[in-house]
Amino acid sequence: MVLDNLKDSVRKFLTGSSSYDKAVDDFIKELQKALISSDVQVKLVLSLTNKIKERLKNEKPPSSIERREWFIKIVYDELSNLFGGDKEPKVTPEKIPYVIMLVGVQGTGKTTTAGKLAYFYKKKGFKVGLVGADVYRPAALEQLKQIGDQIQVPVYGEPNSNDAVGIAKRGVEKFLGEKAEIIIVDTAGRHGYGEEVKLLEEMKNIYDAINPDEVTLVIDASLGQKAYDLASRFNQATKIGTIIITKMDGTAKGGGALSAVAATGATIKFIGTGEKIDELEVFNPRRFVARILG
Ligand code: GDP
Repeated sequence: MVLDNLKDSVRKFLTGSSSYDKAVDDFIKELQKALISSDVQVKLVLSLTNKIKERLKNEKPPSSIERREWFIKIVYDELSNLFGGDKEPKVTPEKIPYVIMLVGVQGTGKTTTAGKLAYFYKKKGFKVGLVGADVYRPAALEQLKQIGDQIQVPVYGEPNSNDAVGIAKRGVEKFLGEKAEIIIVDTAGRHGYGEEVKLLEEMKNIYDAINPDEVTLVIDASLGQKAYDLASRFNQATKIGTIIITKMDGTAKGGGALSAVAATGATIKFIGTGEKIDELEVFNPRRFVARILG
């Protein structure tokens, strides 16, 4: 376990004969290895570990805390800070009606997540509507409709249309007319021509047409090092406000998410922990950091 390695290197620092500064340097090297093997982007690893190193060298552990615990505490603090510290994210909408637009590449679990979110908010007592605007994956609308039937949430879609912008606009208008409180819009993850520029352009056009209250990037825990670039590009097209990480039940540690957060400044709101409709959890920063380090 990586965290054990970290603890080992702290122990070495305590018992070894090397100087404090040398021990800190050794510890930082271990930490860098741990973060890189958890798919955190290299540049981010360096800036994070530099900060930690500075704190370790400049601050002294309070006398009541053992140095070993203090080392680990600083690492947890700095990583957790990136994810919002001790606070769980706010998931109750600030206003009603509230429109959430989901974006992300195909296969990450966007459509599944749209259904999970709808279920999450329905259970909380909100009147929810789902809009299927992924016109490039033929089965997406059918999939969304099945989920909608299962959880009894209405789904708006136009089966033979490829007008994603129009569908999104009409769907949101329809649900607003029906006094829906939360409207979740599923968008395409791949464009018909396989061109990413077109996908990003479509995202922007949908954004302009529906003016969502929140844009949520859905990423897969296994995305790894690519997460930084992907999140940056999406963030340029439409400002990403929140992130949902799917497939946290898999083996990937989700370090890519840390890079996505750094690239966008967005907060992680939920994690997906399985294929089932209720396998969605509110994001917990400390638990996530423990997973990345462990
Ligand atoms: P989309 O192309 O992004 O809309 O992806 P889908 O919603 O169709 O999901 C792709 C696959 O990932 C499906 O087989 C889903 O069941 C699966 N999936 C989605 N979320 C999760 C998750 O949190 N955990 C696991 N294990 N599988 C998931």
